[in-house]
Amino acid sequence: MSKYRFAGAEAEEAWLTGTAGEISLRNRQSLSKLRTRGPKAGLRWSLALAMVLASFSCRSAGSDFDGSRAFALLEKQCSFGPRYPGSPGHRACLDFLTSELRRYTSAVTHQSFDHRFGLDSMQVAKATNLVARLWPERRRRVLLCAHWDTRPWADEDPDPRNRRKPILGANDGASGVAVLLELARVLQESPPKVGIDIVLFDAEDQGRPGDEDTYAVGSRHFARSLSREERPEAAILLDMVGDRDLNLYMEGYSHRFARSLVEMVWSTAHRLGFAEFIPRVEYYVTDDHVPLLSVGIPAIDVIDFDYPYWHTLEDTPDKCSPASLEKVGRVLLQVIRQW
Ligand SMILES: [Zn+2]
Repeated sequence: MSKYRFAGAEAEEAWLTGTAGEISLRNRQSLSKLRTRGPKAGLRWSLALAMVLASFSCRSAGSDFDGSRAFALLEKQCSFGPRYPGSPGHRACLDFLTSELRRYTSAVTHQSFDHRFGLDSMQVAKATNLVARLWPERRRRVLLCAHWDTRPWADEDPDPRNRRKPILGANDGASGVAVLLELARVLQESPPKVGIDIVLFDAEDQGRPGDEDTYAVGSRHFARSLSREERPEAAILLDMVGDRDLNLYMEGYSHRFARSLVEMVWSTAHRLGFAEFIPRVEYYVTDDHVPLLSVGIPAIDVIDFDYPYWHTLEDTPDKCSPASLEKVGRVLLQVIRQW
């Protein structure tokens, strides 16, 4: 995936050309990858947030999300090997994810499209978003999403000889999917008041370095396909949520364009006592939530970008933990039950 940490001034400039309802994916090429804080560092909790916190006081903790089960699902995905479009692992994992989702709803569909990939874009493979609708008859809906594909090049690997090899994507790919599959199980056992759409995006992480438009292809495809009536009330994206050393800062675009949802998630984590959710914007990340924002859906990215193994061959299950997956799962569960 293409993720940039850049200075606040650059962020402001990049977004001055867009609005909350019409976000341009351009104006990014010039942004350099810097580790700096976003423009809203030092965020203060608002009075509105205090009211939200107060409203949670009678809710239960949602402790039935099982981090061990989620971790087993992460390992299972990795057992297929790298999972980029056209690879054997991709085909096998698609079958696995489809059958897993069908355990919880019969409304599972494949949204397939041809995807040009490779550093020269000369190869074509079929890419597939998985869309699972729980309680499809309900009008009010919340979208939960993650990307299931993995990066075909370890272009951040410290060893240059590894940079053309595909990554395993334990955290970058499998972790978000694992949480959503376990959430589907728990929600089916104890239904919330709203309908839930679980969407697993393909072709998020196939982009060519420096070419923004080649990332997040599956989510763009999905966002374009939605009619106005089909749009959910909100969308929560999970990406790299399995790191053993979990640090979840607020993501800049999410905070800028869907602030109340960000505050709801982080305040829920605070109430559950999960200090891994840090209420401060630390970076801006181009990810699958941006195409959703661009069609007017309040969408946020829950992402731990402080992951030293990002886009390296070392992104393997041993760098992740059941405890991290469980904390993220429990927060999401609690958020959904508040709807
Ligand atoms: Zn990635």
